[in-house]
Amino acid sequence: MVSAPPSVPPAAQANLIAQTRSRAGKRLSIVAPCFNEQEVLDLFFGRIEDELGKLGLDYEIVCVNDGSRDHTLAVLLAHHQRNPRIKVINLARNFGKETALSAGLDVTTGDMVVPIDVDLQDPPELISRFLEAWEAGADVAYGVRVDRKADTPLKRFTAQGFYRAFNRLSDVGLPYNAGDFRLMDRRVVEVLRQLPERNRFMKGLFAWVGFRQEAIPYARPERAAGTSSWRYWKLWNFALDGITSFSTAPIRVWSYVGLLVGCLAVGWALVVVVRTLLFGRDVPGYPSLMVAILLSFGVQMLAIGSLGEYVARIYQEVKGRPLYVVMDRYGFEAPKPSPEDASA
Ligand code: UDP
Ligand code: MG
Repeated sequence: MVSAPPSVPPAAQANLIAQTRSRAGKRLSIVAPCFNEQEVLDLFFGRIEDELGKLGLDYEIVCVNDGSRDHTLAVLLAHHQRNPRIKVINLARNFGKETALSAGLDVTTGDMVVPIDVDLQDPPELISRFLEAWEAGADVAYGVRVDRKADTPLKRFTAQGFYRAFNRLSDVGLPYNAGDFRLMDRRVVEVLRQLPERNRFMKGLFAWVGFRQEAIPYARPERAAGTSSWRYWKLWNFALDGITSFSTAPIRVWSYVGLLVGCLAVGWALVVVVRTLLFGRDVPGYPSLMVAILLSFGVQMLAIGSLGEYVARIYQEVKGRPLYVVMDRYGFEAPKPSPEDASA
């Protein structure tokens, strides 16, 4: 590592970094989570192997079968037989894309790592531009969708709302319309792997780690074949996961609600007391009862809200379950796959 003194201008600093960066002799790892993707895999491998062949470095493609219910595993294994650089991890069930991605990142060996969707919505041709940005000194080069024409208006609208809400509620700034498609330097991957949290909202974690990040704009095409497995309900839960793991605002808001209700109760108490003094009582006991109920309601909300704040933090940390369960691995330990592997 070259550490530049403060007097060196940024352009010269970038040059110093660039001098130490060259793809020669490096290995690139691709991580591809696959869930019910049998139709698209042949197309995917055709495009990506073609592209990787042009880059002038060694590569591996780590495919994570995320509990597919179709013949995805069989198709993956056929490709693994054909090209040993294609490696396969078979998870014990469907753990979701975020976790499948983590499982893949954990076994990569490359100097740079690129997570990619297999439906070709992340165009493999962009990888060479990511690599150029990396050679010029970026630790992370991420794709940003310039248009979301491939999405329905409802999806565009909800996505926009999500980014806005997330960025308002969280300290971590999420770049608009950036997905998981990116190239990361090995040291960034190592930081990601060290994050102990169970709730892995990758977009947020990618932004949280920092480093020199560069946005690369691209037009996102439609899915090449098969169907998206994300329904609106799943997307809604995904958004909630993201916001709750990067912000405590949703639980803290109840403290403020409590405070507000408490203040309103005090105000109302004054009104009731003054009115009773001036005009006499209407129903005996009503004013004092009302004040007591409202006041205790407000105070209780305040107390539960602050308690919840701590409970939520503890809950996030204590479960300590492993993130995923790997059932089989193909192409990792043994240099040549055994006959059982081939027939599995
Ligand atoms: N995926 C996965 N597990 C899941 C859902 C999706 O590994 O439970 C993979 C899927 O195979 C694909 C990527 O995640 O490679 C993106 O999925 P999809 O195209 O369905 O999402 P969208 O592009 O609609 O956001
Ligand atoms: Mg897709």
